[in-house]
Amino acid sequence: MKPIGQGATGTVWEGVDASGQPVAVKLLHESLLRQPRLVTRFVQERTILLMLRHRNVVRVRDLFSVGETLGLVMDLVAGGSLRDHLERVRTVAPAEAARLAAQVADALAEAHELGIIHRDLKPDNILVLEREGKLDTRLTDFGIARILNVPSMTTPNAVVGTPHYMAPEAFHGVTPSSATDVYALGVLLYELVSGQPPYMSDSVPELMRMHAEGRPERRPGIPDELWKLIRSCLSAKPRQRPAAPALVRDLRLLARKLSGLAALPPPSAPSLPPVDPDDMAVDPPELREAVQVPSSPSRHAVPPVRRPRNNAPSYRWARSNATVAVLAGILLATGVTTSVWRLAPDQRAAPPPHGVVLSGPPLRAAASAAASRAARKPSPTAKPRPKAASPTKKPIKVRTKHAVETRSPQPEGDVRGPWQCAPGLMIDLATRSPLAPKPCHSIGRDVRYQASLTAPAGGRGRIEVTLRDADTGRTVAGPTTCDGLTFTPGAMTKACGPAGVRPRRGRNYTVVMAFRYERDGHTATSVARGRVFTW
Ligand code: ADP
Ligand code: MG
Repeated sequence: MKPIGQGATGTVWEGVDASGQPVAVKLLHESLLRQPRLVTRFVQERTILLMLRHRNVVRVRDLFSVGETLGLVMDLVAGGSLRDHLERVRTVAPAEAARLAAQVADALAEAHELGIIHRDLKPDNILVLEREGKLDTRLTDFGIARILNVPSMTTPNAVVGTPHYMAPEAFHGVTPSSATDVYALGVLLYELVSGQPPYMSDSVPELMRMHAEGRPERRPGIPDELWKLIRSCLSAKPRQRPAAPALVRDLRLLARKLSGLAALPPPSAPSLPPVDPDDMAVDPPELREAVQVPSSPSRHAVPPVRRPRNNAPSYRWARSNATVAVLAGILLATGVTTSVWRLAPDQRAAPPPHGVVLSGPPLRAAASAAASRAARKPSPTAKPRPKAASPTKKPIKVRTKHAVETRSPQPEGDVRGPWQCAPGLMIDLATRSPLAPKPCHSIGRDVRYQASLTAPAGGRGRIEVTLRDADTGRTVAGPTTCDGLTFTPGAMTKACGPAGVRPRRGRNYTVVMAFRYERDGHTATSVARGRVFTW
C-alpha cells in the first residue's frame, strides 16, 4: 500500500482488493480513536456513502477494522482531487466549469433528496478522473455530512466547514441545510472560473464579514449568465439560493451556451499571503467582536483557511474517553460487516470474514501499528496512481517519537522564509469560549515549527505540537509539549515552540497541534493542522 492522500480524519492509501482491483482505503487517524464522536463520523460516512449511489459520488465498498483502527474501502479515483487539477490549470474555461459544477450539483441533488447535507464541499473533496478524454468528478468526504431527520445519526454538537466555502449562516451555528451546500457550490464555481475563491483573507473573522456582506468581485471575462448564477448561489439568505436540481439544469444549459469561451487569465495575487506568527490572524479584540455565540447548547468549529495542497483542513471536535463499547455500539447500529482486504501479507489475518474486531483493550495507538504494517516506501507526492500497488513485505516504522529537537529560536545568518500559519477559529459553546489555534512553520536551513492558542475567555490549556510527514502522517519531530498554560485577559495567546528539525529533503510536511482547553469544568480537545509544505 502507498499513501495517496491525507485528510483531517485519516490517511488514504492505495491498496488492492482480493481480486486484485485497486482500491482506496481511508484509515482513521490514531489520534482520533479516543474521540467517540469522530469515530461515529467515520462510521457514518460509510453509511451515507452506501445510501448514496450516484455516478458522481465515490463508491464505498466496505468498512473494516485493521488491528484496532478502522478503514473505509472505496473505489480508487485515479486523477487526484479537483484542487490538484486547479493547481495545475489555475483557471477553467466557463463552459467546462459549468459542466463540472453541474456534475457536482447533480450529486448534491441526489444527496439532498435523501436528506443528506455534505457540509464541506470544496475542491479538495471532489476527486477527478478522465473519461473519454473529459474530466469526470466524484464527490467524496461525507465525514462531516449530516443526515437530516435521523436523530441518531446527526452530529448536533459540531458545525464544521472550511471558511472560504462556508455560507454566512454556517458561521453562526444554524442547522445546515441544502442551501449551505449550494452556497459552497457557488464558491467552487467562482473559484473554477477565476482561479481563487471570492473572498480571500487569512483571518477567519474577516472572512466571516466578507461572506455576510456578500460582495464578491466580478473579474472581467466572467459571462453575464454565469455571473448571475454564481451570485444567486452566493446569496446571503439561504432561501434566495437555487435548489440543486434547478442548478443542474441551468449549469448544463450554460455548459452548452458558453462553449468556446476561453479561460480567464490566472489571478496575479498569491492565493494566501504569508502571515507573521506574531500577528495573530485572528486577533483577540477582533475575535471577540466577530464571534457571535449562539445560545444553543452545541459547539461549532471553524477550521483553518484553505491550504495549497489537497488535504482538507478540518477541526474535529470531541471529548476524549472513547471506549470499545461506544465503538461497538456504533458499528452494530450501522450494521457494519467486514471483509478481508489485502493490505499487506502479514495483515490479512487481522479482520475476520464476518463481524468486527472490537474486543481487547481500549482503542489506542492503533493506526500507527496498522499503518506501519501496511506501509511501504511512501510516495513523495500525494497524487494517486492508477496502477495497483503490489502488496509489500517490507514494513516500515511509522510513528517515531525521536525528535531531532534543536530548540533554536536564533538563526545566525540563516536565510529563512516567513512564518507560514494556518489560523483557525472554533467556538466551544459549552463554555462559550472562542478558541483560535494556529500551527505555523518556517523554512530555512532547518524547518521550524510552533503553535499557539488564543483563548480570550481565559482558562487553562495544553498544547502538543509535532511535525509530520504530510503524505504518511508519520511524526518526524516532536512532540513539543507545553502544559499548564494559563490564559488570562491580559495574556490570551500562548505559544508552544519554536523547535527546529532537519527532516528528509524533498518531502511534504505539516505541523500538527493537538490541544486541550479547560474552563469552568468543561474540557475541549482538538487537533489543528498547518499548511502542507515541501522541504
Ligand atoms: P478527509 O475526510 O480526511 O478530508 P478525504 O476523503 O477528503 O479525507 O480524503 C483525503 C484525500 O485523499 C483526498 O483529497 C484525495 O486526495 C485522497 N482520496 C480520498 N479518497 C480517495 C479515493 N477514493 N481515491 C483516490 N484518492 C482518494
Ligand atoms: Mg477531505
